[in-house]
Amino acid sequence: MTVNLLDLDQPKLAAFFAELGEKPFRAKQLMRWMHHFGVIDFGQMTDVAKTLREKLAQVAVIQPPQVKLEQISEDGTRKWLIDVGAGNGVETVFIPEADRGTLCVSSQVGCALECTFCSTGRQGFNRNLSVSEIIGQLWLANKALGRDPRDQTEEGRERIISNVVMMGMGEPLANFDNVVTALNIMLDDSAYGLSRRRVTVSTSGLVPAIDRLRDECPVALAVSLHAPNDALRDVIVPINKKYPLAELMAACRRYLVKAPRDFVTFEYVMLDGVNDTVEHAKQLLELVRDVPCKFNLIPFNPFPSSGYATSKSENIRRFRDILMQAGYVVTTRKTRGEDIDAACGQLAGKVKDKTRRQAKYMMELAA
Ligand code: SF4
Repeated sequence: MTVNLLDLDQPKLAAFFAELGEKPFRAKQLMRWMHHFGVIDFGQMTDVAKTLREKLAQVAVIQPPQVKLEQISEDGTRKWLIDVGAGNGVETVFIPEADRGTLCVSSQVGCALECTFCSTGRQGFNRNLSVSEIIGQLWLANKALGRDPRDQTEEGRERIISNVVMMGMGEPLANFDNVVTALNIMLDDSAYGLSRRRVTVSTSGLVPAIDRLRDECPVALAVSLHAPNDALRDVIVPINKKYPLAELMAACRRYLVKAPRDFVTFEYVMLDGVNDTVEHAKQLLELVRDVPCKFNLIPFNPFPSSGYATSKSENIRRFRDILMQAGYVVTTRKTRGEDIDAACGQLAGKVKDKTRRQAKYMMELAA
């Protein structure tokens, strides 16, 4: 069977070469060619012996996913719709800022978790992305952004993509093994060499998987919190019924023992009249009392029939001020790439739902 080498991190690639009777250092060479230099043609790998190149061409491919559509916003934000077969597409977004370039990466085709404010969740779920489809988003974005790794001038060496956030479509920790393998490639100096502090996994709160991530690949952690008490979170983020807030906060504390940053980022979507009152802010302070954290307030991006509206700006400011006065760092996410629907929670992609979510939702609307 032909192996797609983009599915393998360095240890797995070394095992692949061992099976071919080759030395482990070949894995490092291949990682550099594929990820560092973006080369997918074995013929161009000039420091690999010709006989090995020919052997590789018989048993392996290097196959990134295909881009279906690229859109560029007036503010420089870029969005790619990635073809993941069978009529499905996922989205990847690059957000340039003065001091960093952040790539928002998807982990699943759709999402099975049904957070009620989320347009991805509303579309249903099709399947997990493979490692090559996850790391392929970084590979493609690097190519599209025109980074030439052979340019060794100071400007050329500067990373265009300095940060990766696993915040696109899907719940990354529900696709644990593939996501961790992709994270290993992002962190590998022979591949992208990103710092653990600059790679963030965002989860809705799968407690056992948070513990596994801490042990297997601790990177920066963001938690989609969105509500300060169980009754409200059960509705907005239904996975809360399985892993309620007390368990989630305990998992965050355990995570910080090994995390590369000494805080968790709590994301909080601002929903008008639902979770944005003074009382909610006070409950939130009480909830996170023992968890070193920062807050990221996200003005809700309305989508058709979501049933929610964006909090009024004065209520967002009031909420933010209560948290800041208690000594927390709070950012309010700016909406980027609005003209190309690239804002958070708007990554729709194309999902052939296997969960009948759309049908269920339409029935609920009709009732
Ligand atoms: S917010 Fe995240 S976990 Fe929840 S439905 Fe959307 S993609 Fe899934």
